[in-house]
Amino acid sequence: MSSSKIYKLFINGKWINSESGETFPSINPTNEKVIGKFQKGNEEDVDKAVEAAEKAFKKWSEVPTPKRGLILLKIAQLLKQNKEKLARELTMEMGKVIEEARGDVQEAIDMAEYMAGEGRRLFGYTTPSELRNKFCMTIRSPVGICGLITPWNFPFAIPAWKIMPALICGNTIVFKPSSDTPLCATRLVEILERAGVPKGVVNLVIGPGGSVGMSIVKHEKVRCISFTGHKDTGKMILKEAGLKKVGLELGGKNGIIVMDDADLNLALDGVIWGGYGTTGQRCTAASRVIVHKKIKKKFERMLVNRIKRLKLGNGLNIKTDVGPLINKQAQEKSAKYTEIGLNEGAKLLIGGKIPKMKGFFFKPTLFTDCSIDMRICQEEIFGPIVSLIPVKDFEEAIEAINSVEYGLSSSIYTNDMSKAFKAIQKIESGITYINSSTIGAEIHLPFGGIKHTGIGTREGGIEGIHEFSETKTVYIDYSGKLQKAQIDVG
Ligand code: NAD
Repeated sequence: MSSSKIYKLFINGKWINSESGETFPSINPTNEKVIGKFQKGNEEDVDKAVEAAEKAFKKWSEVPTPKRGLILLKIAQLLKQNKEKLARELTMEMGKVIEEARGDVQEAIDMAEYMAGEGRRLFGYTTPSELRNKFCMTIRSPVGICGLITPWNFPFAIPAWKIMPALICGNTIVFKPSSDTPLCATRLVEILERAGVPKGVVNLVIGPGGSVGMSIVKHEKVRCISFTGHKDTGKMILKEAGLKKVGLELGGKNGIIVMDDADLNLALDGVIWGGYGTTGQRCTAASRVIVHKKIKKKFERMLVNRIKRLKLGNGLNIKTDVGPLINKQAQEKSAKYTEIGLNEGAKLLIGGKIPKMKGFFFKPTLFTDCSIDMRICQEEIFGPIVSLIPVKDFEEAIEAINSVEYGLSSSIYTNDMSKAFKAIQKIESGITYINSSTIGAEIHLPFGGIKHTGIGTREGGIEGIHEFSETKTVYIDYSGKLQKAQIDVG
């Protein structure tokens, strides 16, 4: 990796310059140094990428699915071989601590392996007909050209969650990653190329969301948009996409309930990991902790003691617990929300400041005595800020956890089985953890949210296949005569 190198777009199997003639830098958030320059794509580049994807579609969609699976296995193998290098570059580009960066790459490996296996399944189903001598089944077919638009916070995992199922289903791809992590996206596409993904099947167009992203969204030849990012961007995409398949994975304001019968040491580990892991920049980060009044004081003390010991710094240093935020705006956003919290009357227990060090760091912050309607308890901050909301009983805890517009991840710490089962049913979210933190999705299970976190699509597992394939219903009549469903009832 060289800071003066200019990385290119990947269109129709070639690394090329953008039509814009412009470049932009990717900045290391730990030391604010440029790690590389990138071609800034524009609408014309999107047109070229769609054209290449269109040309490649016929041949790629006709490759037997198990053979496409072999290419995915090769991708998994190359990711494995390069895991450490990729994780280190990820840490440099977005500041995630190295252990979490390895996890990010591992998730991409797991997804490639899982979807490679789907190459030998991609099941439809058979079912009896209501008529004699007639056979009914469903098969899966690709959607067509898929526009994949991704955020920066899981720069290998999230693209892999989309690219691998899209590929195994026989689609071709125009991939637009976040401009905060173009190096990770470039490395991933380099690996796809090395694994033998044919030209035009995956095209990488790096560039601004408003131009590159939006022209993918609006493009008439793109049949499917799979987007992960901010709620407001998602809303805009839904409005502009027209008649396409659209999958939206949006923000979260996830909560952990800590009941008075909980194992507090276990809950402590869960809140620290959920609230401050990845510097609070996970869609599943736990930014609200709903705590039973009986154990509130004790749990506050435990949290403050642990937060005091969290070490900020370069994620490449094994001793670092919390890395920087992704960029200056994110740092300013955390500072702004601290002020909002204070003005709203929340009590600041620790943190709330930009530390005096290079990089976009923010001190792990804990508010208490928060009420559910405060903005710090309603809006996604995407920083290391956790708000404690005291409640008097289980019913109030459920009301508090459901009091937000989002519904991604949730958790309850309790040793009471009946409360745990009630919580599973009553919490409004796509994912619920019992006696564990709000994070740690496994790729063979569905991932996604309800309410304003999305529109019901799920990634991962078999449901990830649904997003990138169409179901065709097939009727085979071997009776030798015209049989009429619903009419020939005798
Ligand atoms: P973002 O919405 O700003 O950007 C996401 C992507 O959309 C980027 O590639 C960006 O360039 C592009 N984009 C921006 N404006 C666009 C437009 N008008 N048209 C088309 N594309 C456009 O989000 P972000 O800051 O990169 O990511 C953080 C957000 O992502 C948070 O809200 C987080 O909760 C969410 N997220 C959700 C999940 C999930 O699975 N639910 C996972 C990770 C992150």
